[in-house]
Order: sequence, then structure tokens, then C-alpha cells
Amino acid sequence: MNTAPAVLVVGGAGYIGSHACKALAQAGYLPVAYDNLSLGHAHAVKWGPLEIGDIADRAQLDEVLARHKPVAAMHFAAFAAVGESVAEPEKYYLNNVSATLVLLAALRAAKIHDFVFSSTCAVYGTPAAMPIREDTPREPVNPYGRSKLIVEHALEDYGRAYGLRWTALRYFNAAGADPDGEIGEEHEPETHLLPRAMHAVLGRLPHLDVFGDDYPTHDGTCVRDYIHVSDLARAHVAALQRLARGGAPGAFNLGTGRGHTVRQAIAAVERAAGARVPVRMGTRRPGDPPSLVADPTRARAELGFAPEFSDIDTIAATAWRRLAVVNQSTGAG
Ligand code: UDP
Repeated sequence: MNTAPAVLVVGGAGYIGSHACKALAQAGYLPVAYDNLSLGHAHAVKWGPLEIGDIADRAQLDEVLARHKPVAAMHFAAFAAVGESVAEPEKYYLNNVSATLVLLAALRAAKIHDFVFSSTCAVYGTPAAMPIREDTPREPVNPYGRSKLIVEHALEDYGRAYGLRWTALRYFNAAGADPDGEIGEEHEPETHLLPRAMHAVLGRLPHLDVFGDDYPTHDGTCVRDYIHVSDLARAHVAALQRLARGGAPGAFNLGTGRGHTVRQAIAAVERAAGARVPVRMGTRRPGDPPSLVADPTRARAELGFAPEFSDIDTIAATAWRRLAVVNQSTGAG
């Protein structure tokens, strides 16, 4: 009999959620993935059961909660493409806000009080000062960031009114793949820089478009704080354990505190792949802030957050290795 305490991992078949499932299992929990598989993959659920369902489906949530009796929930199931959120805001408000409120209601009814929420540095918009601290004003500049901020406000209110014990983890740029090569990043379509650079090396894209080199940064391309997905995953376990110890609700930046330009990230992919990335210089992508770098001091102090895999070369190497595993198993090249 499995006596490990169950944790509901909503979106557990997705990129960050599946890595969180692995981290939870390694820490002695049973991750119960709840996913509608709209973006997630059943083959990424390897460390516990997969419950196929939507967070807007209250009856299904109630049934799954009653059966597994999780001690806590983590919520990764959200749409997260900034450009799409501008074009289709309704999709973002319905899923990221409205359906999340259904999930919170189901958790409250089931008396599950510990909740770890995937938030984002997009809640800050385009702050003037770098690095970004948690008390930087939250002024998102797109519907995606606003959808996450609305939920942060709901968590604050539910915490005060209902005793919800929440942690919002504001991710910077999640990247890389499981160092053991068991799972990785499989977005369809892929919009993120590192995987797109790798697809360009493999000839799946004719070239990588670099979105602007006229930013006020040292080489003119945007600066981001890339954080390894397995480091993010472990931070979720730490957040859960902190809540279980009675830690106060709050938000944490998850980043390294170090920024890399698009050109530097491409160079890391070239070192990992041992090949050139074919690049085409393009124009700016609307909505891209020039620079986003975390101040991770608070996560370090209160979550013991110490990134292990988040130097840019390890990020690129793990992602490249995972692609090689997938290529081998599918025979794709
Ligand atoms: N980027 C790029 N070409 C691409 C994808 C992204 O130049 O094909 C740039 C993008 O403009 C941003 C950085 O790479 O400055 C990281 O973008 P990504 O979409 O990976 O993450 P975001 O920062 O938007 O969350």
C-alpha cells in the first residue's frame, strides 16, 4: 500500500507540472496529476496517477479530491503565451481566472488549505528597476499577466477570509529539461527561445528569428533570467513544506538573479549542440520588456532556494540531451 501523502498537481502533464511531479515523488509524496491534456502529454506523467479532467469541471474535481484526499494542491494549468493573450483574452480570463476560481472552491469544500500557485514575472509588467523584488508594483502589461495578478489578489482575499494557505511562485524564464532525460519541454507550437534555437539547429525551423537587436542592453538583444525547470520544481516542494510548517502566505520570485541576452542564450545552445544556430535578425516582438531579472533573495532565505542546474550551459545541455532522447525513440532527426 502506498502511504505517501498525495498532492494534487493540476496541470501535472505539462512542462513544469511534470517536473514538479518528479520532484514531489523524490521528496516522498504521491503526485496525482490532474490535466485535461489540452497542452499536456499523458506520457509525461510517470510518478503517480493521471486523472484526466478540466478545472472548470467541479463535479470531476470533487470526485478526484474525495478519492485521493490530497494534503495540498499545486496549480500549473494555465495558458501562458503573451501574444496569444493579447489576441484572445477571453481564453485567458476563462481558464486562468474563472476556472481557477472553480478549483479554489473545490479545494475549499474538500478542506484542502495548502495551495502553491504558478505565477509569473509578467505580473510586474515593465519595471524600471532591475533586479525585480517581490514588492515591485504589480502592473502587468498584457492579459496573461493580468490573469495571473487577478488570481494573486483572489489568493490574498481567500487567505484572509477562509484561511487559505497559499504561495505564489513568480517564475522568470523556465527552461531546460530533466537532467535524467525522462521528461522535457514539448510545446506545440513552440514559442520559447531555447527550444526554438534547437529546432533551428535540427533543421525543423529554417532559422531562428531574433526579435530585435536595438534594445538598450549590452548587445542590443533582450535580457532574461533563465531558470532550470528542475530547480523550479524543487522550489515547489520547498514551498509546500514551508506551508506545512506554518509559513505565512506570500509570493516569491524564482530566478537566478543573472540575466542573459538572446545572443548569449543562442551561444549556449551552440555550445550544447556543437553546431551553429542559423539566425535571422528580425524586428521587436510586441510586448517584450528589454530586461527581466529576478532578485531571488527572498526565495533563497525562506525557501532555501539554491538553483543547481540553472547556469545557462547546464540549461542548454539538459534540453539538448532530452531532444536527443526523443529523437532516438521516435526515429526523428
Ligand atoms: N525570442 C527570440 N526569438 C524567438 C523566441 C524568443 O528572439 O524565436 C526572444 C524574445 O523576444 C525574448 C527572449 O527571446 O526576448 C525570451 O523569449 P521567450 O518567448 O522564450 O520567453 P518570454 O521572455 O517571452 O517569457
